[in-house]
Parts: sequence; structure tokens; C-alpha cells
Amino acid sequence: MEKKKKKKNTKEKMAFVLALDLLLLAAVLIAGGMLVFRWYRDKNRPELSLLKAPDWYTQDFLRINPYSRPGTKRKEINSIVVHYVANPGTNAAQNKAYFDNLADQTGENATSASSHYIIGMEGEIVQCIPLDEVAYANYPRNDDTVSIECCHPDSTGEFSEATKASLAKLIGWLCGELNLTERDVIRHYDVVGKNCPKYYVDEANWKDLKQSFKPEIKAARQEKKQQKELTE
Ligand SMILES: [Zn+2]
Repeated sequence: MEKKKKKKNTKEKMAFVLALDLLLLAAVLIAGGMLVFRWYRDKNRPELSLLKAPDWYTQDFLRINPYSRPGTKRKEINSIVVHYVANPGTNAAQNKAYFDNLADQTGENATSASSHYIIGMEGEIVQCIPLDEVAYANYPRNDDTVSIECCHPDSTGEFSEATKASLAKLIGWLCGELNLTERDVIRHYDVVGKNCPKYYVDEANWKDLKQSFKPEIKAARQEKKQQKELTE
């Protein structure tokens, strides 16, 4: 009787040790996998400060200030976030001026807001903040996202054809440079559930808009790949 009990105890102990070993092995494999994933991701990550802006958009940076351009540097970009300006009929320059004027605020009820890019209704693109700095648009993901604000003619929030074309072109270029894919293009709504970009919170409208990004992303990524192969 004694012996049997002892045997049983030993068996239980062995099973326990085995389970612990398996658990440890799983933990090591997961940690290793994560390290490899990170290494691979970082290897293909561009140095943000070295990115060269294309000549089809304008760089007109905000003044460095606590409310719209804190000057905080960052190293990685994992998502591109689409917004609508929520101010029908305004153009890119007006929205840029709004962000820039936040610098002159005084008092306690100060507003913080900005965006890396603004696209106007004529399709004009203005970059307000360098890509290696954070903007105040996508809280709590300001650290690792690019923000694009789009102008719109009326309160439905639907973008004009010219805005849509520029948005697709810009998203394509960003995906090529930042090694991102279609899955990394999201809405403000996807970050915090905000009703932005209003017209495209509707899933069918968003799906349609995303369709227009696809060929631009594919072309930009392919071009990047060819460039890389040529230099290797
Ligand atoms: Zn938004």
C-alpha cells in the first residue's frame, strides 16, 4: 500500500515536471519568435529622418509649440490613420493655419491638435509635421502613427474625387517608404471609436475607399522592391 502510493507520487511529480518543461519550451519559442519578428521588422524599417518628400506635395511645417507640434521625435510608424477635418468647405491651407495658430493660445482651456498631412478638396497635399515627429491626432497612438486629415465639401464628410485621388497616391507612397501594407491603413474610428472620418465610418463606404488605395500601394511597394534589388 505504501509502495503504491509512493509510485503514484513519483508519477505525478514526473508529469508535473514534464508539463513545466513544456510550458518553459513554449515560452522560449514564443519569446524567440517575437525577437525574430522584431528583428525582421526593424531590418526593413526606414530611418524616418532620412525620408525624402516627393515633389508632388508641399512641406509647410508648423511652428514648434506645445499645442500642435511638440517636436517629440519617434522612430517607428506602424499605421496610417485617415481623418476628416469636420469643417466643411475649408481648404488645406486654412486647416494648416488653424493648427499653426494653436501655438498662440493662452489660458487654461488650451486645445491640442494637429496632423502630419492635410489634403484639400482640390487634391492639394500639405505636410505640416515631419514624419519623425509625433502629431496630436491619434491619441493614444500618436507615437507610432501617421495622420492624414482630409477636407470635404459638405457635412456628409464625403471626400471629393480630387481628394480621394491624392489620398490614394499619398497612402501608396507612405506604404512604399514605410514598408506598410493595406492592412496598416486605418480610420480614426478604428483607433478610438470616434465618428471620423464621418462618411467612411460606414463599412461599405470605407471598403470602397480602401479599394482605391490598393493599386497605389501595390505599385509603390513594387517600385521600392525594384530599387532595393538594384542597390543590393
Ligand atoms: Zn479624426
